[in-house]
Parts: sequence; structure tokens; C-alpha cells
Amino acid sequence: MYDLIILGGGPAGLTATIYALRKRLNALLVTLDLGGKTNFRLQLPFVEKHLVITGQEVVGRFANEVEYLEFAREFDRAEKVEKIKGGFAVTTRAGKNHKAKAIIVATGARGRLMNVPGEKEFMMRGLCYSAVSYAPLFIERETCVIGDTALALRATAELSQIASKVTLVAPGRGDLDSPMGRKVLGAKNVEVLQGARVEAVLGDNYARELAISIDGEQRKLTADAFFVELELEPRSQFLGGLVDLDELGRIKVDGRNRSSVEGIFAAGDVTDVIAEQVLIAVGEGAKAALSAYEYLLEAEE
Ligand SMILES: Cc1cc2nc3c(=O)[nH]c(=O)nc-3n(C[C@H](O)[C@H](O)[C@H](O)COP(=O)(O)OP(=O)(O)OC[C@H]3O[C@@H](n4cnc5c(N)ncnc54)[C@H](O)[C@@H]3O)c2cc1C
Repeated sequence: MYDLIILGGGPAGLTATIYALRKRLNALLVTLDLGGKTNFRLQLPFVEKHLVITGQEVVGRFANEVEYLEFAREFDRAEKVEKIKGGFAVTTRAGKNHKAKAIIVATGARGRLMNVPGEKEFMMRGLCYSAVSYAPLFIERETCVIGDTALALRATAELSQIASKVTLVAPGRGDLDSPMGRKVLGAKNVEVLQGARVEAVLGDNYARELAISIDGEQRKLTADAFFVELELEPRSQFLGGLVDLDELGRIKVDGRNRSSVEGIFAAGDVTDVIAEQVLIAVGEGAKAALSAYEYLLEAEE
């Protein structure tokens, strides 16, 4: 039986793994990849490379170390976590059954895609998926946000403080009746296109236009960047109701990254902690590992 199994090798899981190994725990990382979402980086025609510290640079050394330590990681998908005597069992897609005294869940959250022509081609080339990360780059530029939920309204509100214009392509009324929705509707530099659907993303090297339909009419929208801000889907389903989740499906954790089940900890985008950022995931991963370590120190043999 391992002391600790970490699920997910993004910034949170990589940091937790390195901390656990430093504490000499018998730990295993089960993950689909190393780096998680830091493997994606937005490219824009007007942003110079030297101005950016990438997520890969932040967690790259941890990823290299874990890549090298073959005994401490396994590339596989966790499909089930069950409580067993003295700990937990993790069943994987490859049919393995790993056992550990404690678990850290760091499986992140998936951003929903629009699934329209041009999306894959221009993804991260002018088509962005994280306004909270990139909005400050758009001083006096024209931007467009796609979505109508709280996430899209938040992105629109942030961009409206910086950009010259924000067009919100809102498929429905969504959360527009909320306080944030009213703020967005009242902002001078925001245009809300309610009932608008994205048909395609168009461009050259970068996304330059959105083809949309609104009330049966076809239109084209030009902007410096397009933010796809549809719901985030936390990757917590495989836990099958074992731990408490919030209304968005994120694992509820306390200040020490403890879930509702003793011995299960969580960190990063899969939790209800603010906000989806690399440095926060790194810090939360470190906290979760130290918290799990304290738990194991106290646990009876
Ligand atoms: C396009 C984009 C650009 C971004 N840009 C920035 C930025 O500039 N600055 C910034 O601070 N933040 C940025 N973010 C946010 C940042 O990337 C995330 O907040 C951060 O990566 C979260 O780390 P995490 O470890 O919680 O999850 P993730 O990075 O999502 O990692 C999750 C890990 O879990 C693994 N996994 C998933 N399911 C399973 C399973 N069932 N079994 C085993 N493994 C599993 C995945 O393979 C992955 O390794 C960006 C996000 C996106 C989508």
C-alpha cells in the first residue's frame, strides 16, 4: 500500500508529488500527462515572448523530475476511488488497482468548447480560454466574449475595465439578470448580442473574425481576441459522490485542502478555491501535500 496517491499531473499535482517525495513518502502520481493545462499557451500577434513567464517555465522542473522518477508516476486515467480498510483504492483505465492511505485529487477542470469550424485551428491563436489570465493584455483593444453564464459575465466585466470595446456573444439570457449581468448591460463599452450563436471562427495565422447568427441573420464580428468563456467542468465525476461537491461540481475543501472525507485531499482547479491560476494551483498542491503528510504522521499504524 502506498502512503499517498496523487491524481493529476498539472501544476497542483506535480507540486504535491514533489513535496510528497521530498518528505520521503511512498507516493505515486497517476496522471494522463505532465503539466496539465500549462501545456497550452496563448499566442497573440502583439505580445512579445520576453514579456511572458509561461506556466511550463513555472512547473517545468517539477515535470522533468517526475518524468525521470519512473517509480513515482504512472500514465493512466483514474476511473474510480473507493474507501477500503486503512485507506483507499484507485482503479485505473488500464485495469490497475492501486491502494494508498491517503489521496490527493488534482485532476483540474475542463473548459467547454464551442465545437464549431475553425475552433481547433485557432485555439490559443487569438482564441482564448482564460480571461482571468489574459484580460490585462488588452489595453484599448477590441475584444469579444462568448457565453452567458457567470464566467462569461465576469470576463466581460474585467475586459470592460481595460479594452476599448467588448462584444458579448450571449446564446441566451443566462445570468444576465444577476448583479454582474446588470453591470455588464450598463457598461458604455460593452455590446451584448443576446440570442447570438457562433457559427465559425475565421482568420489567417490568428483568429480575426467570428461568423455568428442572430435572429436568423448572419453577421461577422472582428476583434483583437475572442474569449470562449463557457462553463468549466471540474474533473470530479470519477469520485462518484464519495466527497462533497459544490453546485458547480468542484470538490469542497477547507483551508488545509481536506475534503469531506478524512484522508482525501484536493488541490487546484478541481476544488472550490479561487481562482484558476497556475501559481494558485502550485501553492494549493504544496499545501495539500503538507496537509496529507500531517494526516499520515498522526494516523495509527
Ligand atoms: C488555455 C488556457 C490558458 C491558461 N493560461 C494561464 C495563464 O496564462 N496563467 C495562469 O496562471 N493560468 C492560466 N490558465 C489556468 C491554469 O492553466 C490552470 O489554473 C492550472 O493549470 C490548474 O492546475 P491544476 O493542476 O489544478 O489542473 P490542470 O492543469 O488542469 O491539470 C490536471 C491534470 O489532471 C490530469 N487528469 C485529469 N483527469 C484525470 C484522471 N481521471 N486521472 C488521472 N489524471 C487526470 C490531467 O492530465 C492533468 O495532468 C490557463 C488555462 C487555460 C485552459
